[in-house]
Amino acid sequence: MIAHRFRAPFLTVLATVVAAPSVHPTPGISVSLQAQRAPIAPSVRSFVRVDTNVFALTNVRVIDGTGAAARERQTVLVRDGNIVAVGATGTVTVPAGAQTIDLAGKSVMPGMVMVHEHLFYPTGPGVYGNLAESFSRLYLAGGVTSMRTGGNMNGYGDLSIAAAIARGEKPGPWIDATAPYLDAAGTGLGQLHALKDTADARRHVNFWADAGATSFKAYMNISRDQLRVAADAAHKRGLKITGHLCSVTYREAAEAGIDNLEHGFLAMNDFVPNKRPDVCSARGGAAQQTVAALDPASAEVRAIFAALIERRVAVTSTLTIFETFTPGRPLPAGLDLLIPQLQTQFEGRHAATAQSTTSVYTRLFPKAMAMEYAFAKAGGTLIVGTDPTGGGGLVPGYSNQRALELLVEAGFTPLEAIRIGTLNGATYLGRAARVGTIAVGKQADLVVIDGNPAARIRDVRNVQMVFKQGVGYDPAALIESVKGRVGLY
Ligand SMILES: [Zn+2]
Repeated sequence: MIAHRFRAPFLTVLATVVAAPSVHPTPGISVSLQAQRAPIAPSVRSFVRVDTNVFALTNVRVIDGTGAAARERQTVLVRDGNIVAVGATGTVTVPAGAQTIDLAGKSVMPGMVMVHEHLFYPTGPGVYGNLAESFSRLYLAGGVTSMRTGGNMNGYGDLSIAAAIARGEKPGPWIDATAPYLDAAGTGLGQLHALKDTADARRHVNFWADAGATSFKAYMNISRDQLRVAADAAHKRGLKITGHLCSVTYREAAEAGIDNLEHGFLAMNDFVPNKRPDVCSARGGAAQQTVAALDPASAEVRAIFAALIERRVAVTSTLTIFETFTPGRPLPAGLDLLIPQLQTQFEGRHAATAQSTTSVYTRLFPKAMAMEYAFAKAGGTLIVGTDPTGGGGLVPGYSNQRALELLVEAGFTPLEAIRIGTLNGATYLGRAARVGTIAVGKQADLVVIDGNPAARIRDVRNVQMVFKQGVGYDPAALIESVKGRVGLY
């Protein structure tokens, strides 16, 4: 199923590359190069299919990421990694000698900007292995050109691969690398530091910011005071902090200065009866029962939305991971890339989930969708990520395409879903001046798709080429390079 999805069409694209007949250089457009792209290392070259200073995508449907309607038969002109012209084919002058790629019948959308990604899977109970090498390739192959890791289990691992990709030494998306989780004792994961007090929280933030971490994530047992101090320390460095919370409610976290909340509203403990402050007292689904019972249109829910909107707290949709816990949903795509042990494990878990007649997710999954939709329509900032931590067998790249499909299932139009997965993420990360839409002056982070995801979101699965800073990568080659080895490295 996966192999044919990425296979032949890419060659068709290459076959249509011809020299352009026009003679004039593009007039009147100058773009300052804010980010010089790094040279491509020999080890990365085998994945690159387009690497030229000036090229044009012609006759292509442009889905620009703003939510605006798709525009047919456009030309996108790229120079030195930046978009320098976009317009109807025939109105944009393509310089003599520029490479042109005729994409008639195909679409181009911005590279996805995903904000709850990971570079690890569990390799044993409570132990997480660093899979940065394979995951970063799969993210890029799936159309993700920017991502934030939503929590770090491997110390310098996330920081190192982010830096190696930025230097052009490895293929992968631009990565906002989180520091190791900010958590207090109680989670029971041996790769996490347990914060002792607020001074420890401040030290943790400053230590990892000095080491190169560019964002932070609070976890389930942090105290309100530790969160407040960590948020303050991060903000002093110009960095943001998100959280997968339990001990701290959403309202308390907003008051403590958090920037973002993970997992939609399924980690919300605000409605847990007799909740004790600073204690994760409703683990094991008890808090989720309270969320499953909520009415998104009720006054109590609207008050929570208003509190988050007033303090400009973004909410991250991670429907992909919750889908894997829900009976009756399809098996995640891409499992055939995993090592056999993991593939068997995930398929077995899916079969077991399918048998459940008592799972809270039967009610909770549609409620998660309804809450996220209502929050966005109330004016909240919704961003999206996929959380591939091995919980349900999500495979990076494929998971990101699925995330957009699930946003459409939640009620968003395909154009709205694409905007959430591109511009909204870029805006949250403070990078919207450079990425997140297809517009003159932006970096050429582009996904070429066979089909029309503005009409059929499922077409986002048909990725044919992924441009990052104007370099075109072959998704099939990236995927083939890790096939059967995802789970090892
Ligand atoms: Zn996560």
